[in-house]
Amino acid sequence: MNANDVIAVLCPCCEKELYRGTMGEDGNIQKSSSSPAIKDDGKGGYFMLCPHSDCQKRIVMVSVIGGASGAAFELAPNSQQPCA
Ligand SMILES: [Zn+2]
Repeated sequence: MNANDVIAVLCPCCEKELYRGTMGEDGNIQKSSSSPAIKDDGKGGYFMLCPHSDCQKRIVMVSVIGGASGAAFELAPNSQQPCA
């Protein structure tokens, strides 16, 4: 996989596109600016709201710290998602 390839990350609930980003040199996906914002739940957790009107689940994200580009986020395991 090449740097700058666009990757679509699917919602674990509705399996439609949740967000897209590019693969950084550190192997983490950097979310594109047009993707839904990552929100802070105030308890040290992060989530993203699925943009699809028939889903709108609160998708749990985890931060991936480190690498050249700093913090990135990825989907939490399916067992932690509200649809699981
Ligand atoms: Zn969804």
